[in-house]
Amino acid sequence: MAGITAQPGIMQIAPYVGGAGGDRGANVVKLSSNENPLGPPASAVEALQAAAGEMHRYPSTDHASLRAAIGEVHGLDPERLICGVGSDEIITFLCQAFAGPGDEVLYPEHGFLMYKISALAAGATPVVAPERDRVVDVDALLEACAERTRLVFLANPANPTGTMIGEGELARLAEGLPDQALLVIDGAYAEYVEGYDGGAALVTARDNVFMTRTFSKLYGLGGLRVGWGYGKAEVIDILNRVRGPFNLSAPALAAAEAAIRDRAYAERCRVENARMRTWLARALAEHGVPSDTSCANFILARFASADQAQAADAFLQERGLIVRQVGGYGLPAALRITVGDEEACIRVADAIGAFMGGAA
Ligand code: PMP
Repeated sequence: MAGITAQPGIMQIAPYVGGAGGDRGANVVKLSSNENPLGPPASAVEALQAAAGEMHRYPSTDHASLRAAIGEVHGLDPERLICGVGSDEIITFLCQAFAGPGDEVLYPEHGFLMYKISALAAGATPVVAPERDRVVDVDALLEACAERTRLVFLANPANPTGTMIGEGELARLAEGLPDQALLVIDGAYAEYVEGYDGGAALVTARDNVFMTRTFSKLYGLGGLRVGWGYGKAEVIDILNRVRGPFNLSAPALAAAEAAIRDRAYAERCRVENARMRTWLARALAEHGVPSDTSCANFILARFASADQAQAADAFLQERGLIVRQVGGYGLPAALRITVGDEEACIRVADAIGAFMGGAA
């Protein structure tokens, strides 16, 4: 590789580990990627199969049909929507388009890993603001803003803490930002919160707010990689300039459209997640493992120390239960556990009970 070197910033990116993959043997339960344990809606599988017959053709370049469906369901102007290969790609577009060398990309202490990766890949400087007891601190974010802050990322609910802040706090943050900064409210888990619009009303009301959403969580399409963003028309125009013309495949577009129109299935998934999340949090607490009230499809189980969390992770792995270590998020004494189906929740709770009872 003589003379061939990466752009500055790239080598500071730690290669992504964990999440997908892993052993999917017969008795293995994967609770590490916040996937929907009920799977995709049947309507989406049918739409995908129908679209597959046309796979010799390039897909839509403007995603008009999917944008129209999203617009109808959420009451948003389709002209102000953009679709990407997961919301990860939308985050990447935002950094590419708005942050370069010398610019700062700000996010909370336990913020989602893609904010840092995308900021560094764009040559910008990631900046972290402290949280208060694993909850986003708006004052700390405002204090951390500087002349070159271009983007402020905030997941609400947040990953991996599961906590969220109120709409008044989001508005206060948007109002307090310097002129050159765009607030990005990442709503990957917004659908799990009944009656919450993910920040859409704030985007409609203010020019300096953008919202991202995904089909990977509640809609059960993580493997297809579809996400979307909502922002002011000028921001969408800028992002479309960095978007490749055929970024989403036709089967993925068709499945996502079917999934978002299947309101009954989405509601069933939301209700079932809330039921099992409450059950799991209570069961773990009874075994001496507390968690913050989660608003998402996972809980952050807190152990006494990083050593205990690691030992618990190893204990679970031996029993075919794959959960997520979150030391990379600055939470080494915790494990993030996706809310699985009833059987998976019982298995993981029983195993943690056995671990805490000294059966290790
Ligand atoms: N934001 C947050 C907070 C997430 O947890 C995730 C998925 N782990 C994403 C964005 C990206 O999701 P996707 O690219 O699958 O849409």
